[in-house]
Amino acid sequence: MIDQTTRLRDVLGEKTAIMLADALGLETAGDLLAHLPRRYEERGELTDLANLTVGEVVTVQAQVVSAERRPMRERRRSMLTVTVTDGRHSLLVVFFNQVRQTRDLRSGVTALFAGKVEEFRGRRQLTNPEVQLLDAEIADAQGCDGAEGFAGGLVPIYPSAMKIPNWTIAKCVRMVLSDLTEIEDPLPAAIRSEHRLVGLLDAYSLVHQPSSWADVTRGRARLKWDEALILQVALAQRRFDNEQTAATARHAGPDGLLAAFDATVPFALTAGQRTVGETIATEIARPFPMHRLLQGEVGSGKTVVALRAMLTAVDAGGQAVLLAPTETLAAQHLRSLRDLLGPLGRAGELDAAPGATRIALVTGSLGLRARREALAAVADGSAGLVVGTHALLEESVTFRDLALVVVDEQHRFGVEQRDVLRSRSDRPPHLLVMTATPIPRTVAMTVFGDLEVSTLTELPAGRSPIATFVVPAANEVWTDRMWGRIRDEVAAGHQAYVVCPRIGEDPADPDPAGPDPDADADADATADGATEGGRRPSAAVLDVLPALRDVELAGLRVAALHGRLHPEDKDRVMTRFAAGDIDVLVATTVIEVGVDVPNATVMVVADADRFGISQLHQLRGRVGRGSAPGWCLLYTDAEPGSPAWERLAAVAATSDGAQLARLDLAQRREGDVLGAAQSGGRRALRLLELLKDEDLILSARDEATALVRADPELSAHPGLAAALAATLDETTAAYLEKG
Ligand code: ADP
Ligand code: MG
Repeated sequence: MIDQTTRLRDVLGEKTAIMLADALGLETAGDLLAHLPRRYEERGELTDLANLTVGEVVTVQAQVVSAERRPMRERRRSMLTVTVTDGRHSLLVVFFNQVRQTRDLRSGVTALFAGKVEEFRGRRQLTNPEVQLLDAEIADAQGCDGAEGFAGGLVPIYPSAMKIPNWTIAKCVRMVLSDLTEIEDPLPAAIRSEHRLVGLLDAYSLVHQPSSWADVTRGRARLKWDEALILQVALAQRRFDNEQTAATARHAGPDGLLAAFDATVPFALTAGQRTVGETIATEIARPFPMHRLLQGEVGSGKTVVALRAMLTAVDAGGQAVLLAPTETLAAQHLRSLRDLLGPLGRAGELDAAPGATRIALVTGSLGLRARREALAAVADGSAGLVVGTHALLEESVTFRDLALVVVDEQHRFGVEQRDVLRSRSDRPPHLLVMTATPIPRTVAMTVFGDLEVSTLTELPAGRSPIATFVVPAANEVWTDRMWGRIRDEVAAGHQAYVVCPRIGEDPADPDPAGPDPDADADADATADGATEGGRRPSAAVLDVLPALRDVELAGLRVAALHGRLHPEDKDRVMTRFAAGDIDVLVATTVIEVGVDVPNATVMVVADADRFGISQLHQLRGRVGRGSAPGWCLLYTDAEPGSPAWERLAAVAATSDGAQLARLDLAQRREGDVLGAAQSGGRRALRLLELLKDEDLILSARDEATALVRADPELSAHPGLAAALAATLDETTAAYLEKG
């Protein structure tokens, strides 16, 4: 009798076990069963041979049209040329010396062929592929492993492993399934019956040996539940542990800085800002750490929410930190906090309000003296508010009493870094993470682990919508009008951005490829495939700048902003732009995150098709932050109707960030969304699709929360506990730890 822990060698023999271990890392019966078919071929449905890609390893189902054996010059060698068809297209299959394996390949026979697609004299062919006859009589007569394993009508196709033919895996699975009588089921019986799920062993039979598509669906539904529940239990345990961790409860007094700020702020808070503010106030007044993600469109007013939370922390006698991913953004945050607070943030200055606090800035490029001063104010607590970059994470930075950490634009900031700050004090501070990238809820719940999510859904009143247009580069009239729009806006007293995918000029320009949101914080220009195979290089700031200055935007004050500028220069350019001393900023995606100049009303994105959907949405949030209507012009040489054009058209068609985020996610692999740093979590997501399985994930989350509340250690559910431990391999565990 075997169970899922039985070594494969005890079921399949030494040789096969070694092969499976080497090629696929499968050691136990359980490992093999969890190696799921990637897709299914319908028996008798021939594979479409028109879509084979050279270089790919494929398994195709096809019918033999002709087979011609020729002796070769050397004695006892032969070559068999077989032509197979899917009914419309044909494929050449060539065998050298495979006499025994190929003797039944004659006209009319249907078989599976597995091998690498090659090209020979302009035709695609398979050379010495593995063959599996599908005609049962022949297979039986051959006494070979036979097609009986595929009797079900659906042929499972496993993720390709070069050396192991598909049917060998199928056969091994079959042997294991027939010997296996018992398997520990991690899913509690109550959940199984509540959600009408089959047992684990049944689920494996259904997905490995289905007789219909309904079987596949039923089996998969059950296995998805395992994935979802295990992930959610891990997160629920994290939340539970967090609740057991002591933090200092911070209560705002009735007449502190927060009250003074609320009395002076020149606008009414939106309903969302008020509600989220209340939630945060409640959570930081609890004796365990708040872990909250604040999501909201660019311009939805997250900074004000954060500032109010920070003031609460200061009123309660602590300090609050606002962490930004770049120096530019930190400098900008400092400016906007100072503006918002006015005299309330100027302790030690002449015009300070009574009870005022001080804002300290800590970045890597501070001069020695400024740095010493700032660090002293942070250490002795005279700076209640601290704004900075990752320079704040250095060992030399100590706080008097760190109460709250606010991380802006989380997706550019590593989880590890966030963790450093949390571990800096003996009691972890409360944590608020802000992101403007709209993330579908289930993704947020998975990527951001144990964070609770709040969303600001409305923009402050008085905002004008942004009109977005796709401008075809081939159309000169449109192109002229586009630059004309910038000239008009500037003439009307407004300002503009021109965004390019690259910096340019320097041979060391990394020409970064891929819109990796986790890229090094100050590295910019992370547009999609800037150097993608054979295309012309994308527009670069340093190439575009002189041309615009001399021609299209002659007479306007045009300046460049990008990640290779010295931080001081960057800051100077931003300050001058904010002050209205620069009309047009030609920039890379450094401006994507958080830059707030309400007077900027028009943005041209050059080679817009090189950017991702969410990134474009993020970028255009930089215009239309004031009361004047904003324009976003997506300049591209993509052909109208091409997929690239359609993506841009989608961005132009809606300003609903959540909808665009879903579209973005649907077009990318989920692993990319989860990010390389979180790849540990990917293993746990094999069948689950974060978008399509939203309902399932939400129910699993509810079940997981209830389970963990009732039984944190899962002592009543040993199967689930074991599956959880197995899933949380080291990387995943490390990732969740940091979540
Ligand atoms: P986000 O960080 O979410 O992109 P900000 O907090 O930077 O947005 O806010 C964008 C702009 O809107 C800022 O100039 C801010 O002062 C202003 N603002 C914030 N809340 C309101 C409100 N309730 N009413 C009017 N203006 C607001
Ligand atoms: Mg912001």
